[in-house]
Amino acid sequence: MMINKRQFLKSALVAGMAATQLPLAASAGSGYLKTNKKKWKHWVWINPNMNDKEDDLVTLYASYHEAGIRGIFFEADSEKHFRAAKKNKIEAHRWMWTMNRGEKELIASHPEWYSVNRNGDSCADRPPYVDYYRWLCPSREEVLQYLENDVRSILGKEYVDGIHLDYVRYCDVILPVRLWDNYGIEQNKELPDYDFCYCEVCREAFKKQKGLDPMAIVHPDQSLSWRRFRYNNITRIVNRLSAVAHEYKKPITAAVFPTPEVAKRIVRQDWTNWNLDAVCPMIYHGFYKEDVSWIGDAVAEGVRGIGGRFPMYAGLYLGDFKSTEEIKTGIELALQNGAAGVSVFGKLDPPILEILKSLA
Ligand SMILES: [Zn+2]
Repeated sequence: MMINKRQFLKSALVAGMAATQLPLAASAGSGYLKTNKKKWKHWVWINPNMNDKEDDLVTLYASYHEAGIRGIFFEADSEKHFRAAKKNKIEAHRWMWTMNRGEKELIASHPEWYSVNRNGDSCADRPPYVDYYRWLCPSREEVLQYLENDVRSILGKEYVDGIHLDYVRYCDVILPVRLWDNYGIEQNKELPDYDFCYCEVCREAFKKQKGLDPMAIVHPDQSLSWRRFRYNNITRIVNRLSAVAHEYKKPITAAVFPTPEVAKRIVRQDWTNWNLDAVCPMIYHGFYKEDVSWIGDAVAEGVRGIGGRFPMYAGLYLGDFKSTEEIKTGIELALQNGAAGVSVFGKLDPPILEILKSLA
């Protein structure tokens, strides 16, 4: 997931708001993803531990199913994990890092595929913020084909039920405010070090469309066309990967930034307009120094933007919450505001499973 989620700990917050009625969530999509019309459908993000024993997994995932978990996004391929989930009637999807690709062979063989910032530095040898930030250039057809092949090889496996795109975006031109201290940067404006992609191919493609070299734009952060160009770049990639997934008659979903507005502004994701079967916005309130009530606001904004074209599962970061009670409030707010369920990042301890069960 985003760097923040992995590496930094939360600030904590105050809750509020009791939930009462839970309206039925909107759900549509292409039909490749089952939705649960009567009850919530919940998900969890898991990085499979290869030392896990299959019997233990089957028992563990039985407790997940009992709590309403109906899908797992696995960050790596592990047949025993996928099969243990499926034995419990839980869909097993592969969670894939999309544009952020640090494969050593790829960096060595195609350094030119990597994004270049406004200073001319490439992610191939000068990654921004952290060493694993190795963003590919989204304008290049070869990059697209590389990603399509990756999705094909994942979905060609019979035990993989779907594909889940993560890091399907540009590098954060602005980090979530909670992280500014970690890096000692004040990002009140779009700084050239973190502004991508100004490689030859991107510059040429934009020039062809607008007759203008993006390097010549005096205030690139204010250029609506240059922004639109970058939204479209990511949208094109998602839609091409979506077509591949649907060739396999399998659903495609994505983990995205928390609201349509934030996602476009800081990572150029125009996710309400993607051809997805479901979306999981990472509504991690702590990273934006927001309180729990903001989860409801964020869900409502996203659901309005999607307009019923596909369901939303609200991504919650357990580390952001101060107490079990707060987690309950966060989940209730997500469901009240139109989410079809939640997607949980963090350890599903028994008290969390109890909350999900109590809301079923
Ligand atoms: Zn480029």
